[in-house]
Amino acid sequence: MDGNLAKELSFRESVNLMFDRAVALMELPPGLEDKIRVCNSTYTVRFGVKLRGEIKTFTGYRSVHSEHKEPVKGGIRYALGVNQDEVEALAALMTFKCSLVEAPFGGSKGGLCIDPRAYDEDELERITRRFAYELVKRDLIDPAQNVPAPDMGTGEREMAWIADQYARMNTTDINAPACVTGKPPHAGGIRGRVEATGRGVQYALQEFFRHPDAIAMSGLNGTLDGKKVVVQGLGNVGYHAAKFLSGEDGCKITAIIERDGALVDEAGLDVEAVFQWIKANGGVKGYDATYVANGASALEHDCDILIPAALEGVINLSNADRIKAPLIIEAANGPITAGADALLQQRGKVIIPDLYANAGGVTVSYFEWVKNLSHIRFGRMQRRQEESRHQLIVNELERLSQDSGIGWTLSPDFKESYLRGAGELELVRSGLDDTMRSAYQAMHNVWRSRDDVTDLRTAAYIVAIERVAEAYKAKGL
Ligand code: GLU
Repeated sequence: MDGNLAKELSFRESVNLMFDRAVALMELPPGLEDKIRVCNSTYTVRFGVKLRGEIKTFTGYRSVHSEHKEPVKGGIRYALGVNQDEVEALAALMTFKCSLVEAPFGGSKGGLCIDPRAYDEDELERITRRFAYELVKRDLIDPAQNVPAPDMGTGEREMAWIADQYARMNTTDINAPACVTGKPPHAGGIRGRVEATGRGVQYALQEFFRHPDAIAMSGLNGTLDGKKVVVQGLGNVGYHAAKFLSGEDGCKITAIIERDGALVDEAGLDVEAVFQWIKANGGVKGYDATYVANGASALEHDCDILIPAALEGVINLSNADRIKAPLIIEAANGPITAGADALLQQRGKVIIPDLYANAGGVTVSYFEWVKNLSHIRFGRMQRRQEESRHQLIVNELERLSQDSGIGWTLSPDFKESYLRGAGELELVRSGLDDTMRSAYQAMHNVWRSRDDVTDLRTAAYIVAIERVAEAYKAKGL
């Protein structure tokens, strides 16, 4: 193994190394490589909020990795482990993620060191509004400059507070709702944003299984139907990915790993039932399936597809040589360390990398931002017109069938689904599917057509960096 991979690197060093591996295979103008690699700025804020009779001081970050396109985009994470190294690594990943899926944004990320479960809703609202105030004041939340979104520990609720805080501070900004994405639909959000990252993981796997040469590289065969899948983390991303893959593609979820242990069932777990159990009981323990106290050991379970959908660094030098899954899809950001990545590659594993695999979230954020700026819901103008044109065809077919005496009848199911014009959710899913397919094809072509590119991650970085470099060149840099 590469000498500097024998020891574990930090998250940011891992991302830099993956970047370096890709640029070594590219021809960039002198100096541009460094310009793209570095993180442009990181703002650290410490602020106090009076809670339970005392002032509590919180530390937060907003890091801007690359402004080759603006606004810059990326989530805000609430977790105790948030630190500058992590936020900068995540901001860099956002740059490459947006580039790969052609979302016209630079990369950014934010974080607040907090355990959100330690506060009630009112307290969280005050903390969030205060954090947002600090960021808005410095244009680190702004529809044209920096547009946050949900990430680990945050969701629609926090985004609605942030949007409202921005609107209070910018009372005449007609585009205020576009200052943040991932808002609830009743507060300027878009249908399909909550499921988007998990949906994107499903579309990514569907696209992978449309490529026989990719399937062969992983040593798998056939389709997604019947594949055994292990999921780590039943949060927003893991839950939706597992639910769609089992409910719509015929996959069997044979293990679910959570904070307090893992559940294993070779016949396939009922994702919705497990999800409801966790909601009610705070963990997986006690659910009617085999319980494994050392949850992480289930990552090493015999399965076809492994989906780490929780934290970074969970597949590392300590367990990489025991991972059995031939195909790993990184639903989380950075779940595989650079050292583990090299080991897994040596063992012939195929890894669908994070910057592609979890790009569904920011893709639908892009649709939400466009919707906010255009001030109209997708499909509002066309839906009924589309329906009436379809009705014309159905009427004509029925008339022809009757007049000619053939006597065909269109089944009610066909009529129902054919006649229905696409609403916002259908359009969002179709846009997401198209994005995931195109981005996969771009990295697949690099992976399969170049002898010096042996993995999808390097291919993804090459595609992404190429586009960032083009943007810088076009700017005259
Ligand atoms: N936090 C998500 C991510 O890491 C979504 C970012 C966004 O929608 O801007 O990709």
